[in-house]
Amino acid sequence: METARGRVLSVASECVPLLKTGGLADVVGALPGALAAEGWEMRVLMPCYRPLKWRLEEMEEVFAEADLFGGPGRVMAGEVAGRKMLLLDAPHLYDREGGPYAGPDGDWGDNAQRFAALSWIGARIAREGLGDGWRPDVVHAHDWQAGFTPAYMDYWGSGGASSVLTVHNIAFQGWAPASLLSALRLPPQEFHPAALEYYGGLSSLKAGLVSADHITTVSPTYACELMRPEFGMGLQGVIAQRAGQVTGILNGVDTDIWSPEVEERPYNAASLKAKAENRAVLSGAFKLSVPGPLAILVSRLTYQKGIDLIPEVLPDFIAAGGGLAVLGTGDAPLEAAMRELEVRFPGRVGVRIGYDEGLSHLMFAGGDAVLVPSRFEPCGLTQMYGLRYGAVPVVALTGGLADTIINANPAAMAAGCATGLTFHPTEPPAFAEALRRLIHLHADPAAWETVQRNAMRHPVGWETSAAAYAALYRELMA
Ligand code: ADP
Repeated sequence: METARGRVLSVASECVPLLKTGGLADVVGALPGALAAEGWEMRVLMPCYRPLKWRLEEMEEVFAEADLFGGPGRVMAGEVAGRKMLLLDAPHLYDREGGPYAGPDGDWGDNAQRFAALSWIGARIAREGLGDGWRPDVVHAHDWQAGFTPAYMDYWGSGGASSVLTVHNIAFQGWAPASLLSALRLPPQEFHPAALEYYGGLSSLKAGLVSADHITTVSPTYACELMRPEFGMGLQGVIAQRAGQVTGILNGVDTDIWSPEVEERPYNAASLKAKAENRAVLSGAFKLSVPGPLAILVSRLTYQKGIDLIPEVLPDFIAAGGGLAVLGTGDAPLEAAMRELEVRFPGRVGVRIGYDEGLSHLMFAGGDAVLVPSRFEPCGLTQMYGLRYGAVPVVALTGGLADTIINANPAAMAAGCATGLTFHPTEPPAFAEALRRLIHLHADPAAWETVQRNAMRHPVGWETSAAAYAALYRELMA
């Protein structure tokens, strides 16, 4: 079948492999390749932060603006690891020592201008095209940093391009005082509740939500949750009003990197033998000796992730034969709580405070189960790694966790599709019950291996997501 080709401009503040602070960068970096397979051409526009400056030498100028919010800006085009990148070079905004969003004294004070500038250029490229004649059919803006892009397209012209805004995390909303309205090149007459006004100020995310032709978020369940006050963080009404244009599209994972077949002691769904060897190595690394299921936790240690529930449910799990290996960093009290568990249950609980991607691979390869007790989870990656590696996910029934894990209840077991254990609500009794079910399931080797194999065969790559984005772009172009 002939694929309808199209050109997509992705506008984002980070992109793998150039710069990453979170899952946003993974998605932005994975889409161009996954969509190329579907016949789409995607270019990614992002700021040229100081650590990226050296790359400009090999790039070519394709767009310029003399006054970009207080200084000149130019767009430089080039290829990085197979991706067509557009770096927005505006030294007065991005060439500084520190992170992309914050310096040594906290958030950059001019973040509103810095990311409005990115959004402005995204909209101008839509309207006017690049110097090499390239012009997008669809502009795909990501999170609050690109939230003004659809708004600028709306107010200043879009050149016929459609716009999509993807919400990766509603917690960050790009707030700015109303006094910046004209400095940010936003029309004053649009400062009212149905458009730009947000609790007396401005929010670039809200601006994008009201202006974009379509809105997506990173899982179908999170798309529904965002319309409720518990999850919408003030924007639930705005999103609910646009319910007809909101789609949830699950993220994928890079299955070349996250595969038990490329680990040091490889295994796969057909032959799980080496998983036991990985478990032994993992046990050695954390000094553990666990008779029952060895669970792992690889996570930011925060309230969102439900880490405070672990000390409440763990004693019974340990008493029933379980063990836990923890890798994470985060809030100091939660780090301390994890360390206390290690002291309290020697040989059964091991804790590493830190960020270590290599160790996390060993943990998924050696772990029997991965715990993900999140209070909210837009998509979540670790449950997908758990699926890939046959580390049976034990997850709260929320957001992307609800969309990726099939609970091992009797019906799912009979149908042969169970891939993990889910619980609801995210509170100690339900979590404790899920851990009891984990103990029982693990004690039945045939049932356990069936769930592991189902999990490992569950598709978690980018193919499905890319097809969903492609279908959406096609719809927008029609
Ligand atoms: P979030 O983006 O909310 O932190 P996700 O599950 O979407 O949660 O993504 C987290 C990513 O970070 C996963 O790839 C996970 O493996 C990784 N990760 C989290 N903490 C650590 C850590 N301490 N060491 C290594 N990798 C980690």
